[in-house]
Amino acid sequence: MVRTRFAPSPTGYLHIGGARTALYSWAFARKHGGQFILRIEDTDQERSTLESERAILEGLAWLGLTWDEGPYYQMQRLERYQAVARQLIDAGLAYYCYASKEELETLREQQRARGEKPRYDGRWRPEPGKRLPEPPPGVRPVVRFRNPSEGEVSFHDLIKGPITVANSELDDLVILRADGVPTYNFGVVVDDWDMGITHVIRGDDHVNNTPRQINILKALGAPIPQYAHVPMILGHDGERLSKRHGAVSVLQYRDAGYLPEALLNYLARLGWGHGDAEKFSLDEFVRWFDLKDVSHAPARFDAAKLTWLNQQYLREATDERLAGLILPYLARQGIHTERGPELAAVVALLKERVSTLEELADAAHIFYRQVLPTPEQLRAKLEPAALPALADLRAGLATVPWQRAALDALIRDTAQAHGLKLGQLGIPLRLLLFGSTQTPSLDLTLERLGRDETLRRLQAAWPLLQTSIG
Ligand code: GLU
Repeated sequence: MVRTRFAPSPTGYLHIGGARTALYSWAFARKHGGQFILRIEDTDQERSTLESERAILEGLAWLGLTWDEGPYYQMQRLERYQAVARQLIDAGLAYYCYASKEELETLREQQRARGEKPRYDGRWRPEPGKRLPEPPPGVRPVVRFRNPSEGEVSFHDLIKGPITVANSELDDLVILRADGVPTYNFGVVVDDWDMGITHVIRGDDHVNNTPRQINILKALGAPIPQYAHVPMILGHDGERLSKRHGAVSVLQYRDAGYLPEALLNYLARLGWGHGDAEKFSLDEFVRWFDLKDVSHAPARFDAAKLTWLNQQYLREATDERLAGLILPYLARQGIHTERGPELAAVVALLKERVSTLEELADAAHIFYRQVLPTPEQLRAKLEPAALPALADLRAGLATVPWQRAALDALIRDTAQAHGLKLGQLGIPLRLLLFGSTQTPSLDLTLERLGRDETLRRLQAAWPLLQTSIG
């Protein structure tokens, strides 16, 4: 039974990189009919916040990355880590260390001065025949893992291939702090063991921790999971992706109007490929996903490609769904749609022209609130010869059958009768109705806007014609 996990620390938002790790872990579990577990690694009490935890859960839920177990919280499992640490101490595989911060700092300085790599010197490590110092009174010790001093640790990373590290490179790391809270490496080990994790899929910033974790697992007699370290994500400039590169949090993309399926598709493809498939469903991804196809090289984040994908998914989404999704954007902007044309019909007209929900909402405005053009705008686009044509058109609009073909014919005939090109009539008409020249074709736009509203708007904007022409 495959069991994977996503183990974020609630110390920030759900980052694009974290979301991709979660997606790969989730997809791997789904593909193998296994389970996906969510674990909140909240032992950094200074940096962990409830707000960040909420943002992570909200981001995962929005993406639809559902978990089968959890969330587990490390801070609710302290007794378990303490018990396991005691078990290791009793077996002679871990020990109390009473060295003070100052002492360790002095040690590091001396090592640096000698040109050595700073490391714990084993002063409290029990050895046969060694006499340990008396524990200083009143000092609460940390617990250190007794790392093997000989030999090496090897594992086969499912993405990076074989990795071997000599034990002489690893010192005796602290596993339990003096206050009884585990360090990162120990919490992960106990949890991966207790939670029966078979495959650890995570960012390759953790690859150096893996040999340490394997040593502790071995000391516990626990099974060693398989490891897959996913290369990091870079910005367009080759630097590690960060806020400097723009939006990096999943919820920022949600708020800017990206569809979850577009972001998932993009993240799936970021550092993994299946032939030259660029656009695929989540089901296809789960079917195709294999760790051996994850790239060994860091991926580069390409915002334009994500936007392109979003555009494709917007086109495919139903008008009703998109209408529901843009309502909150419109509400935030104080736009009420009840008294205007049906929102889904407006969406149908606009969705091919935009790449985000935010843009879709912005484009839909014009149907629900008239924006008057400035006299300067009008003056720039209005020729005196268009005035009588506009007046005729206004009269025609009062009686023409209100459907697309008839509206189109009316506009064309009116322009022709006055010797105008279509744009010479159409552009000032757009300005009068919408305060903008950027609208979909007039026949469709008018059809959606409706006769009453069209005439009402013309009446409201008409006096501007006089002032512009002066
Ligand atoms: N909590 C760690 C992090 O946020 C992840 C640890 C892991 O996946 O082993 O980076």
